[in-house]
Amino acid sequence: MLSVAEKSRRRFLEETPLGRTRRARKIHRILADTYPDAHAELDHRDAFELLVATVLSAQTTDIRVNSVTPALFSVYPDADALSAATHEDVEEIIRPTGFYRAKARSIVGLAQALVDHFDGEVPASLEQLVTLPGVGRKTANVVLGNVFDVPGLTIDTHFARLARRFLWTDTDNVDRIEKDVAALVPRKDWTMLSHRVIWHGRRICHARTPACGACPISALCPSFGTGELDERKARKLLRFELAEGAESAGKSDGGSRVEPTKADGLTTEHGSRSADGSANGDARTNGEDA
Ligand code: SF4
Repeated sequence: MLSVAEKSRRRFLEETPLGRTRRARKIHRILADTYPDAHAELDHRDAFELLVATVLSAQTTDIRVNSVTPALFSVYPDADALSAATHEDVEEIIRPTGFYRAKARSIVGLAQALVDHFDGEVPASLEQLVTLPGVGRKTANVVLGNVFDVPGLTIDTHFARLARRFLWTDTDNVDRIEKDVAALVPRKDWTMLSHRVIWHGRRICHARTPACGACPISALCPSFGTGELDERKARKLLRFELAEGAESAGKSDGGSRVEPTKADGLTTEHGSRSADGSANGDARTNGEDA
C-alpha cells in the first residue's frame, strides 16, 4: 500500500513542463494571499546594512542577526567606518551570530573592498556585487531585489528545500535551482516569490516535520504527506504569527499579518486535501490548471 507521500508524488510524475509552470504560478498566487506582507526579515536601512546583515546571517537566524546589527551599525554606520575597525572590536559585537571570528574578517574585508573599489558605496549590479569578498549570488540577489528593485531569486536553505519538494527542480545545486525556478515564473516576480517561499519554509513547510495538514498549497504539492497530516497536530507546528496562541497579528519577527483563514489549507478557496492525500476543491490534480 502506497503512503500518502508516495501517492502525492506519483500524481505529478507525468506532469508536462507547461503543467509545472502553471502549477508554480498558482502556488505563488496562493503564497501571495497567505503572506501578504512577506519581506526580507533582516532589519536594514540601506544597501550597506543589508549586505552586511546578509553575510552575518550565514548559519544563524535572522532574529539573531537583528539582535546585533543595531549595535554594529551604531558604531560602524558605513563602509568607511567598518573598513577601519579592528577584528576584535567587531567580534565582540557580532559574537551571538556564531562563527564570529570568520564573520568579523568577512565584513571588515567586505567594507575595505567597498572603499577600495566602489568609493564606499554598494554597487547595484550582480556582476559587481559578486566581486566582493564573501558575496555570492544569493547575497547579491538579496541586496538587488530589496534595495535596488532588480528582480532576483534568493536560493537559501528554505527556498532550496521547498523547490525540491514542489518538484520545481531535482538538484541541490543552488545555481541550477535558480535557473530551474527562473524558467517557471516571470522575472518581475522573482524577489517576492523568494520572500514568500522562504516565509512558507519558516512557518509551515519546515525541514523536519512540515505541517502538511495545515498547508494552503497542499493540493498542489507533490510532497504532501511528507509531514504531519492531522490538522490539529499540524496547526501546533505553525510558527511565528501563524502559531497557535500568537498574541496578535504583526507581533512576530517578520511583522507579518496573516488572517487565520488564509493559513487554513483545508478550507481556503484554493483547494483542499483529504487526509488520505486525495485532492478536493478547485485545484486540478494534474497541475495542468491555469
Ligand atoms: S507543508 Fe507539506 S503540503 Fe505544504 S508545501 Fe510543505 S510538503 Fe507540501
